[in-house]
Amino acid sequence: PKTVFSGIQPTGIPHLGNYLGALKNWVELQNSASADDTLIYSVVGLHAFTIPPGDPDSLRQSKLDAAASLIAIGIDPARCILFHQDEVPEHAELAWILNCLTPVGRLRRMTTWKAKLATVKNATSLDDVDETDLSLGLFAYPVLQAADVLLYKATHVPVGEDQLQHIELMRDIASTFNGRYSPPKTPFFPVPEAVAPSATKRIRALRDPEHKMSKSSPSANSRILLTDSPESITSKIRSAVTDSTRHLTYEPETRPGVANLMDILSACTGETIDDVVRRMDGKGHSDLKAATAEAVIAMWQKPREEFERVRSDEEELRRVMWGGAERAREIASRTLAETKRLIGLA
Ligand code: ATP
Ligand code: MG
Repeated sequence: PKTVFSGIQPTGIPHLGNYLGALKNWVELQNSASADDTLIYSVVGLHAFTIPPGDPDSLRQSKLDAAASLIAIGIDPARCILFHQDEVPEHAELAWILNCLTPVGRLRRMTTWKAKLATVKNATSLDDVDETDLSLGLFAYPVLQAADVLLYKATHVPVGEDQLQHIELMRDIASTFNGRYSPPKTPFFPVPEAVAPSATKRIRALRDPEHKMSKSSPSANSRILLTDSPESITSKIRSAVTDSTRHLTYEPETRPGVANLMDILSACTGETIDDVVRRMDGKGHSDLKAATAEAVIAMWQKPREEFERVRSDEEELRRVMWGGAERAREIASRTLAETKRLIGLA
């Protein structure tokens, strides 16, 4: 049996990159799961706090937004354990133990944390980011991520391409722990595997196709949100940066803006890239943009309506998430107790 775990940060309404890179896989794994598989999906508030969002109220709202978004795209709290990470304190405690097993040098090689600060600070190069400005929490968040997954002894982790480096780290941490503390021949933590999307790996920012689409990037027109109106989707895609070559070709290295739109179009309609290139033969940038906007609008029409419905009943939403936290905590407290026993702390 599989145990699937993944998380999303409550740093804003999920965007097309989150959906096509990760969340769509969450739903597919749920819908193809067999009865003895366990699916655990989390809104990871402690991660969102690594770059403090400033206003406590907006973090509270973002947590509900994220939870409602997951239900809106088809995550079923009756079939999955859906919960807020910050309501299960075992995450932080296991993270501490794993912090003590993780070399600082290994974390320093993670590109994500500096890249993230660079986006937030609007720096043009990673070299302009002063490490001393970074919080210890931001530095260590890949270890918290390892704790999130290992706490449930998860075997499969559906994430977008930008997270693959962190999956490597958590595999190393699991192996290190197993090597030092597992009883012989019975590894305590399964070494988790990434589940990456088959075709579309990374959705790029519409205004800046050199970078990935991000919730925390300052450029709001660079991302399409689950809650965007059809008009807003159309206008964001219309203003996407492409290039001045007339014919449409798929060349991600040299024409990232055009390739990004083709990736989005193919992921939304289920066509292959070849289908898309053939369909766009002899057409121009504005045709590609119109087709892409239409495909995104159609794909998200139902989830957007569902979001409004789910998000409007906060009391019910909190109740559902609290129920998830109780179920998560049952597993988490067991793993943590066993872990502490193995290392000599209990
Ligand atoms: P933030 O900027 O706050 O880090 P984010 O947009 O990166 O937000 P996360 O909550 O960190 O979103 O990530 C949720 C999931 O979405 C992860 O599995 C991540 O790999 C995936 N993801 C994020 N951005 C993209 C993208 N542009 N393309 C594909 N997958 C993505
Ligand atoms: Mg991210």
